[in-house]
Amino acid sequence: MRQHSVARKHAHRAHYHGHSLVRLMPAHAADLPALHRLLLDLNADVWAESPAHVDVRAADAEALTEALRQSLSVGVHAETIVADVEKQLLAPYWRAIDKRADATSRPSVAAQLHDPKSWFAEYHDLNEIYEWYQLLTVTHKDRITITRNVGFSHEGRELMAVRFTNHASTKATQIKKQIYVQGGIHAREWISHSTAQYIAYHLATSNDTAITTLLDEAEVVLVPVVNPDGYAYTWTTDRIWRKNRRNNGHGAFGVDLNRNYPAHWGEGGSFTNPFVDKYMGPSAGSEPELQALMAFFDSLPRVVAALDLHSFSQVILRPLGWTGEDAVHESQHKTVGDAMARIIKSVHGKDYVSEKLFDFVLTSGTATDWFYMQSRPLTNLFGAADGKSNDVATMKKMALPPEHATVFRPYSFTLELRPLHPGFGDGFFDGFMLDPSEIVPVGEEVLPAFLHFARFAMENVLTEVR
Ligand SMILES: [Zn+2]
Repeated sequence: MRQHSVARKHAHRAHYHGHSLVRLMPAHAADLPALHRLLLDLNADVWAESPAHVDVRAADAEALTEALRQSLSVGVHAETIVADVEKQLLAPYWRAIDKRADATSRPSVAAQLHDPKSWFAEYHDLNEIYEWYQLLTVTHKDRITITRNVGFSHEGRELMAVRFTNHASTKATQIKKQIYVQGGIHAREWISHSTAQYIAYHLATSNDTAITTLLDEAEVVLVPVVNPDGYAYTWTTDRIWRKNRRNNGHGAFGVDLNRNYPAHWGEGGSFTNPFVDKYMGPSAGSEPELQALMAFFDSLPRVVAALDLHSFSQVILRPLGWTGEDAVHESQHKTVGDAMARIIKSVHGKDYVSEKLFDFVLTSGTATDWFYMQSRPLTNLFGAADGKSNDVATMKKMALPPEHATVFRPYSFTLELRPLHPGFGDGFFDGFMLDPSEIVPVGEEVLPAFLHFARFAMENVLTEVR
């Protein structure tokens, strides 16, 4: 009887019985891009890409491999990584969720606010996350302000922004540069939500001089959950859901928010089929989540750096995504991206690759390209009443001398966090389901890289003549 009611209680959950995760390698590495494109055309769920292979979830791996071999007329080697996604990955995950829900004595969010060991020992659902940021703000008013209801999702959930700066240090004449960070644009990438929390917690509480000086001189603006509907859906219904929850009709749901930005929208790496994971949406910037967040970004006049948190693959990706040509500020982006990789490696020895987004995978309509396109008058950064700079050191280091440049643009990165490849590290499959024991180590390696990024961007503003 009990079994029966449990099954009915969770009847809404998506299951993937018999699906496998396979690693596909063409006989010649040169055929990989064609293989990858074909997989996307076939609406295969690509979990990870590398220069040598593509990892993909398949309902029928044998049929998929055969179709690929025929279409490409080259050999394709398939190696099974996970034989049964439902049994091996999702069932243990749902058991853990149920156990969590049934627990009679979970510590409250308030109790965990001052107990980071407890808070960062697990992932948290949307309500807990929002409550946590609200409580963090109340407890650290000297450093944080919160903007509730920045906008709303398709299903009416709130978008929230959290802003960090040392209010006491702000002089009347001081113009603070802004660093923008967002997490959770892809629902299933839970480590990105957690890493945003890790950064936020340290900005709120740390007295490390790298943080206190950053907050003295700048403002960090964080949107912790870009896709609240999708995230809630991964907790209740489908753990490997990626998109938002737009109702596309005919039983199709969701737009890939990171293919929907009006930044060369629809120019490759995204799809017009509303059933697929990388559906670009009905028009550029069509989604309410992005409309709200783009308007919010527009309201920030001095953003010199933007970071979009994702998982997984351990890569640090700079513009551009839609073309292989160098961005105007390729050399500056490469310098700071490479430095972030070195910093991350120095913490726990993890290798992150620093490269152009296009070289990782062709994409269009992404946050990273859109942020980089947002140029602002250079005068926004220099607000002294007499028109002269109050920040001579910064001006000297600019890409163009300020007397020639007229606009500045943000540095912009996509950061794909751990793991490197999906696999059974320590007997536990990670991929999107990164073990919660890695929340803290990932935070520990990303925080100093983030602080370096912010500092570098503040001191080497990207400028341009317009
Ligand atoms: Zn992502």
